[in-house]
Amino acid sequence: MGGSKQYIYDFDKGDGKNKMLLGGKGANLCEMTQIGLNVPPGFTITTEACLAYLEKNQLPDGLMDAVKTHIQALEKKTGKGFGSGKNPLLVSVRSGSSMSMPGMMDTILNLGLNESSLQGLIKLTANERFAYDTYRRFIQLFGKIALDISDEHFDKHMTAVKRKFGALQDVDLKTEHLQEVAAGFMEIVQRHTGKPFPQDPYEQLEIAVGAVFHSWMGKRAVDYRKQFKITRDMANGTAVNVCTMVFGNMGNDSATGVGFTRNPGTGENIIYGEYLTNAQGEDVVAGIRTPKAISEMETEMPEIYRQLIELRDRLESHYQEVQDFEFTIEKGILYCLQTRNGKMNARAMVRTSVEMFNAGLITRERALLRIDPAILEQLLVPQLAPNFRGKSLAQGLPASPGAASGKIVFDADTAEIRGRAGEKIILVREETKPEDIHGFFQAEGILTSRGGKTSHAAVVARGMGKPCVSGCEQIVINDALRSAQIGETTLHEGDVITINGGTGHVYAGEVPTVHAEFSQEMATLLSWADEVSRLKVMANADTPNDAARAREFGAMGIGLCRTERMFNSTDRLPIVQEMILAETTEARQAALDRLLPIQRADFKGIFKAMKGLPVTVRLLDPPMHEFLPTAAQLELEIAHLHQLRDTIKGLEELPDTLKMLNPKLYQQYADGLTKLMGGLSDFKESHLEEDVISKKEVVLKKVRALAEVNPMLGHRGVRLGITYPEIYSMQIRAVLEAAALCAKEGLEIHPEIMVPQVATVEELKRIHSYVQRIHAEVKATQGIDVKFKFGSMLEVVRACMRAGRMAETAEFFSFGTNDLTQATFSFSREDAENKFLPAYTETGILEDNPFEVLDIKGVGQLMKMAVQKGRATNPELKVGICGEHGGHPGSIRFCHHVGLNYVSCSGPRVPIARLAAAQAKLLEDKYQEPV
Ligand code: PEP
Ligand code: MG
Repeated sequence: MGGSKQYIYDFDKGDGKNKMLLGGKGANLCEMTQIGLNVPPGFTITTEACLAYLEKNQLPDGLMDAVKTHIQALEKKTGKGFGSGKNPLLVSVRSGSSMSMPGMMDTILNLGLNESSLQGLIKLTANERFAYDTYRRFIQLFGKIALDISDEHFDKHMTAVKRKFGALQDVDLKTEHLQEVAAGFMEIVQRHTGKPFPQDPYEQLEIAVGAVFHSWMGKRAVDYRKQFKITRDMANGTAVNVCTMVFGNMGNDSATGVGFTRNPGTGENIIYGEYLTNAQGEDVVAGIRTPKAISEMETEMPEIYRQLIELRDRLESHYQEVQDFEFTIEKGILYCLQTRNGKMNARAMVRTSVEMFNAGLITRERALLRIDPAILEQLLVPQLAPNFRGKSLAQGLPASPGAASGKIVFDADTAEIRGRAGEKIILVREETKPEDIHGFFQAEGILTSRGGKTSHAAVVARGMGKPCVSGCEQIVINDALRSAQIGETTLHEGDVITINGGTGHVYAGEVPTVHAEFSQEMATLLSWADEVSRLKVMANADTPNDAARAREFGAMGIGLCRTERMFNSTDRLPIVQEMILAETTEARQAALDRLLPIQRADFKGIFKAMKGLPVTVRLLDPPMHEFLPTAAQLELEIAHLHQLRDTIKGLEELPDTLKMLNPKLYQQYADGLTKLMGGLSDFKESHLEEDVISKKEVVLKKVRALAEVNPMLGHRGVRLGITYPEIYSMQIRAVLEAAALCAKEGLEIHPEIMVPQVATVEELKRIHSYVQRIHAEVKATQGIDVKFKFGSMLEVVRACMRAGRMAETAEFFSFGTNDLTQATFSFSREDAENKFLPAYTETGILEDNPFEVLDIKGVGQLMKMAVQKGRATNPELKVGICGEHGGHPGSIRFCHHVGLNYVSCSGPRVPIARLAAAQAKLLEDKYQEPV
């Protein structure tokens, strides 16, 4: 014990719930021991000891004395001796923080081996080969992790020995070969450290514990925490678990493996995993030998298989969660070495939630809460087009579902560089290691030629929701030539391939993909979510097609229909431009009269697609110049046209000039010239009429007149509606007439008209007066009193400040948090993300990109105030959000907290928002607003 602090807990004493102190692995080892599972005895050194180490860069005072006491207790429990030449106690030293960070920190196995205990191990097991195999593994691992010697030195020597004795695999090496390996490894250590390999097991342990603590701040681990936003209150330091070694490589009644209590790729309720007989843990994960499926164990070791199924059932019913566990069988005895919640893809999470609830294992609440809404996005991962019948180049293991195409890249650094440059990349490796993680982030998918479905590549890709094909052994990779051979085919770096992580197939070139369809389980889960939530989830959709799709995703209405998107389609743009260029109100009205039936038809289509549900139509928002070409483009076109006209003029004069200079030559070419001139004059008529140029000049003049230094703060939104009342009037009429026509057809419709960019109460009142006038007119002409709502976007800071008065006119508010964020920070939403924002988030000035994650501390406070002021005027006021944040789970939680009625987001995010809305309700009592 160091000072008064207890830094060490035995597995049978530690609090299995205290993951912050003991790390996830340590807490689970304690928990498993205490519920009676067969865990090899050991103890956990706490994360507090790690923090103390990191502070002073040395182990806390007294820690090693305490370690010694606990090792002595282990010796007693196991009847073995640490460093003993007769019956040696060997231990594993494993890292483990409160958040699972697979492969990110270091682990050392077989610690305690030295020249004397090696002899003990030989005597004990009567298996010299096994002992030397264990010894050489330990020297390499210890050398790499504790003494910082690169793997490649050890690998080189290993390969040389294998070659010398003609061994293909490690298992082909005989005792004397392994002795040669171990001796060589010792020399490598001596050469690199200038000292012999440490023989005192306590010294080994001290160095190892320090190395594991140190790995918490290693680049790999730091990058990982940054990428997955693991903050200090989620995980602070790593614990160290010291656990008695058990051996899966003690003969054919020994084995080691990893298991999932259910299939992590599909969620199917069946034990899933892999094992290797006569092997140690890292052989399975590293993919050195391709392991066998657990199902084979049923025939190979039926009694152990039965015990394994029992272990699986106990783990699941205890943890009420799918478990990812490691086991070892030593001479016919099954040990559980580790368990943690299984990382699964979205499909598996959804299926297991529904099935575990149906089996009575978990509550409905837990079924909803155990899924991170963001991962549902994976359900939209593209799949290969179902009608695609192309022949694959090769097939490996389906390690993480989804299809991806991209250019082949053979190493993680290149993947990072090319991926960041915007290229679509498939990372192709023999096998991946934790240090390749940065390549994963940038890759569309991963392909490995070695390793199973639980290899590093597979586990990491699954966690990230990226497609992965592993163990594709037909591929022979030549890193030096930067090429890969599959049968007759040679693939070079930069060649495009497609992988299907759902089947394991690899195809040459880019294969067409389609989006996944929702499963029945997904529909069930989201229906549970809807029963729980208070927030409604709407979609942002602008066309009847989008609306129909949004409905399939379960949208409960349209929260934002941006009408400008309708203006932009090619058949309407000329009419819109005519309207903009009109010099008089009459001319503008004439263009608007042509637009009216088109808009009316649009709205009818959307109302029909969303029948029975509210549809919020936002009046025109962007500045008008967005519908015209840019000045630069027009200037260029006009200059070209002038140039062309001059050239043609020159050509027209050519025959006369030629006749004068060389009548003979003229005669010869006369026919051809006449033809050419004819063609030119046709061309001139169609392209170079004075009219065409002058029309462009008129447009240019208009574009220059409309130009603004700050268009986003300029003549747009409601300001257009005020200065050109006829534009908004046309749109309002189109909405109300479409609604009347639908109502006549017997459709239930709930139109809402929303005004963008409102800053003053008077603006809103003005537009409201148009609405009232047109409503009365439509009522008179259509004979129907259309029921609708009138509301305002709140996306200008002043509008939030004036929300109380706004609510006198508006029946609803919708926060446009894209513009509101821009306005609150004074950050341009067009430029900030490409300029300074990355530096802001990387250096911690901002925690997140505020255009992605709602800035609760700033923008959120404005929202909160506006809701309070608005509801003080009108307690029935409906309030929602339609900026991008409406689809972001964390932001949705805040929206629930401040009492919004709905969130609106893009169609594909609707399922995420539905789940997030349910979680917001379920967790409302625990909500803490960031301050
Ligand atoms: C907003 O500003 O948040 C919004 C929804 O409107 P737009 O993105 O169209 O400006
Ligand atoms: Mg806006």
